[in-house]
Order: sequence, then C-alpha cells, then structure tokens
Amino acid sequence: MDCAGQGKSLTDLLNQSLAITPLPSLSTETRQVDMLRLDQLDRAISGNKAFKLLGHVQTAASQEYNRILSFGGPFSNHLHALAAAGQRFGFATVGVVRGYQNLPLTETLKDCQRWGMTLIFANKKTYARRYEEEYRAQLSREWQAHVAEEGGAGVDGETGCQLLAPYCQGYDEVWLAVGTGTTALGLAKSLPSGCRLVGVNVVADQGERLRHWQQHMPGCSWRLLDHFHGGGFGRCPQALTQLIERYDEMNIPLDPVYTAKLIWAFEQEGLVPGPHEGSGVADKKILLIHTGGLQGRRGYDLSWE
Ligand SMILES: *Cc1c(COP(=O)(O)O)cnc(C)c1O
Repeated sequence: MDCAGQGKSLTDLLNQSLAITPLPSLSTETRQVDMLRLDQLDRAISGNKAFKLLGHVQTAASQEYNRILSFGGPFSNHLHALAAAGQRFGFATVGVVRGYQNLPLTETLKDCQRWGMTLIFANKKTYARRYEEEYRAQLSREWQAHVAEEGGAGVDGETGCQLLAPYCQGYDEVWLAVGTGTTALGLAKSLPSGCRLVGVNVVADQGERLRHWQQHMPGCSWRLLDHFHGGGFGRCPQALTQLIERYDEMNIPLDPVYTAKLIWAFEQEGLVPGPHEGSGVADKKILLIHTGGLQGRRGYDLSWE
C-alpha cells in the first residue's frame, strides 16, 4: 500500500502543527489550562483515530495488503476515520458493523459507504468473535486484508499516538478520555518526564481498564478516573448535554461519548487545588486533549459543523 503516494500522506497529515487553545474559564491565578485540538486535524479523518491508524496502515503495507478491515458500532468514530483515510490515501476498507443491518443507515455509516467502505453487518454472536484469532485469520484470508482491532486498538494503534507526546512538553498534567486506552498507552511511551497522565474512563468496565494499565502502563506517573462514565459507554445524562451546550457557546464543540466526559471529570476533579497550590508556590500547567469524534454528535441530535 502506498500511502505516501499521490499528494499528502497520512504521515504528513499527522505531522501538521496542531492548535493549542487556552481555556480561560478553567484557568485560575495559579493554574493554566489549555486544550490540544485534535478535532481540528481534519474534518473526516478525525482526532485520535487518525493517529491510531498510522501503525495499522504501516503494518498493512508491510504485509502487502491494500485493504484494512475493522470493527465498530453504527456510530463508530474509528470506522468513520478509517473509511475517510482509505478514500483519501487510496486503500480499500471493510467495516464489520455490530448489529443487524438497520435501515436507514446512520449518518456515520452513510459517510463510510460514500467513501467506499464495504459494510458487513454482523449479528451479536458473530460480532462477539472479533477478538478470536481464528475468526480474524479467516476474515484476513477472505478479504486479503490487514485486520485492525475495534477502535483501532492494539500495539499498532499505539504507534502513531506517540506523535502526541511533544505537545505535552512543559505541562504538569495531561488529561484525556479513555475508551480502549490505546491512545493513552501510546502517548505514555513517549511522555516527557515529570508529566502526569490522567485518563477519564468513559466505559463502565468494573475496573478492567485499571487492571490492564497496572500491568501495561510504562513507567510514568498516571491516574485513571473511573466514575465519570455517566451511566455507561454512549450514555449522555442531562448534565452532560448541558455541559455540551455551555461549551458550544464558547465555540468549543464537544462530543457526548468522550470529550464531554473528559471536561465533566475535569470540572469536578481537576480544579481541586493540590497541596502546594493556591499558596503562590506552584504554577501548574494542564493540557486537556480534545480527541475529536465530533461526527458522533449527529447520533444525539447535535449539530456537526
Ligand atoms: C475512540 C475515542 C477515544 C478513546 O480512545 P482510546 O484510544 O480507545 O482510549 C477518545 N476520544 C474520542 C473522540 C474517540 O473517538
């Protein structure tokens, strides 16, 4: 696969310089809060999903596949970004979608289809096999494709996320929303020393992510907040909707599944002063990573500009 072919490559896209927006409403005299805008990377190949694709695209190329197959739900940011990248950089894509073929298609899947992705609808039982080695090998043979995990996860998914590390230089804390945890794990591999990683888990997983991180997180300082999932993955309680409206007015669009929960958690936990703060002793710098995913607003009757 020749992603470095015509015009801009995925690497070029990821290496563009991203905006960092100050958040005066969350900053105080002793603390500066900024936001890294992965949502502004590209409208279609959005946010952290673009970074997670890099390793998968490289692995596909090294195995001489010109097709990537992956898994996701009907609102998946990952399938959306994968389909867009396939169209832009000239490789074929297949999406195995959770659930029966539901007509009409969601706006997300309509985009995927328009960008040339082949959609396969898997029932619950089949979809549950997505981590099975045998099933994945079968799909790979059948489609002559590199099979990427749901959400672009796995070691391949971590590769490109290390490109986010230079943006974290000079910050005491870096906060981000956590789904599979791949973005955080990749970033942690290259995180500047003295910088602490704070993950906000958007999945109600009974401590599964926490146990995984305890085993796999490289030697950096980190914390995982497990009680801001708002009732579970994709759930959007009213407090969250109100928060999104508040940030819309500040021209900072958030998505209900990930980034709104990040801010929700930060407003409740991140603003509590540490032992040396508020005394003029410590100036603290905090970076919140906006991981994109704004196309997902459409599933909640919110606008996507
Ligand atoms: C997928 C996604 C995440 C979670 O990323 P993981 O690497 O799975 O932890 C966070 N934010 C947005 C907007 C996403 O689409």
